[in-house]
Amino acid sequence: MTTVEFDALDYRADTTFAPAHYRLHGDERGWTVERDGTAALELGPGYRLLRTRQCGVCSTDLARHHLPFPLPQVTGHEVIARDESGRRYVVEINASHHARGVAECAFCRAGLHTHCPDRLTLGIHGLPGGFGPWLLAPVAACLEVPDVVPDAAAVLVEPFAAALHAVDSIVPRAGDRIAVLGPRRLGMLVVAALAGVRAERRRAGTDFTVVAFVRDPSLRELATAFGADEVQVLGAGAAPEASCDVVIDTTGNPEGLPTAVRIARREVHLKSTHGQVSCGLANLTALVVDELSIARFPDRPPAPGASAWEQLALGGRPRVAWLAASPPPAWLASTAEVRAGRDAAALAASFDRETTGLPRATVAVAGNATEVDAAIRPRAGDERSLVRPRGTVLVTPDADVAGSDLLRAVVVRGLVLSSSRCGDFRRALGLLAADADLRRIGERLVTHRFAAADLARAFAVAGSRACIKAVVEHEDTGGGSA
Ligand SMILES: [Zn+2]
Ligand SMILES: [Zn+2]
Repeated sequence: MTTVEFDALDYRADTTFAPAHYRLHGDERGWTVERDGTAALELGPGYRLLRTRQCGVCSTDLARHHLPFPLPQVTGHEVIARDESGRRYVVEINASHHARGVAECAFCRAGLHTHCPDRLTLGIHGLPGGFGPWLLAPVAACLEVPDVVPDAAAVLVEPFAAALHAVDSIVPRAGDRIAVLGPRRLGMLVVAALAGVRAERRRAGTDFTVVAFVRDPSLRELATAFGADEVQVLGAGAAPEASCDVVIDTTGNPEGLPTAVRIARREVHLKSTHGQVSCGLANLTALVVDELSIARFPDRPPAPGASAWEQLALGGRPRVAWLAASPPPAWLASTAEVRAGRDAAALAASFDRETTGLPRATVAVAGNATEVDAAIRPRAGDERSLVRPRGTVLVTPDADVAGSDLLRAVVVRGLVLSSSRCGDFRRALGLLAADADLRRIGERLVTHRFAAADLARAFAVAGSRACIKAVVEHEDTGGGSA
């Protein structure tokens, strides 16, 4: 058994920090996390102890008090850590069955391990994070950092992987104008990821344009350095309507989405997890956590193989949860199993009992903003969705869209809202290892560094206009556990 004891700063629901004494005790069979002498968390097998070296501050950390996970806890999830022999690791944040190497659930088995309903999340939900000096990392989530990748770039692997995943999710088409709204700490990495994909496409003979929309004119140069073809400064006036095919909203605040909806012709991709109401919808952060989409319900039967529900059904018969007041069209029953009901919690409970496939609806159909919210989180205080992770909430053509610019655009213009969360660390590390210019993302983006003891100041500065990216550094004590 291994034991480490340390003092760390807990983040609290009132947004302040308070010191706490931690004791981690265990081995490969399981760990106990004690806070101030009381057991705070019992972990099963599949974790290893690592010493934190650096941890980035991101918008999720600054908005953590809005998220539906218990506080206090030691936060921070963009980490570089090292083992007893000094090897450097980045750590994927989802402690799923898959990441722990234990018996997998239906979600892990279906390749949806980042959506495992039993997961804890490093520095966000349960597991002490990288603003403390020690971590418990899922064994299969630790990826060794190649020597060629410096700490300054490695500490950005978590958000860079998420940025790459966003770009892979939107699938830019030839000739597209792809916009990044509000590029700062995450959005600049999305610009870098788009520039990387654009370079691949150019070699294959197709191309698209990367547009950055900034509020602060001083970010023009940085956006260009990260690879934007065009930088537009958003002034006090309205944003240019329908000027880009896809808009990736990286603003991290609820005012971003209506602007993104206005600029986008085809798709808005949401990367913000601010936990607040936006466009009349309360559960958009949960939508991003579950990587859900919102789209218009088709007017006529889609061609075989072309519907959202067929593509998401994992080879089984698609299950449609019909929440809308208007009745489902007769043709739907020939391609899907339709369960209609006005009570989203009761519908969700009926899917809980499924023993084949995922215990969720493949898609949900909603007729107003309340029903869209209910399809995302049907039960109060319960983080399980009605619709499966990476599934779609379809909005009926006759939906009540009052109070939601987003739903109006979905119904009237056929706009699609997509979203994504965590990405593939292996791919991110591979790109960084192969591209010397890309490895400069750290020196370009990180404007502030703080000692771990100075966490409150790090958060204050990270949330200010003066800062793009802040990184917290732990004292290099040589490591080793008792
Ligand atoms: Zn983050
Ligand atoms: Zn699982």
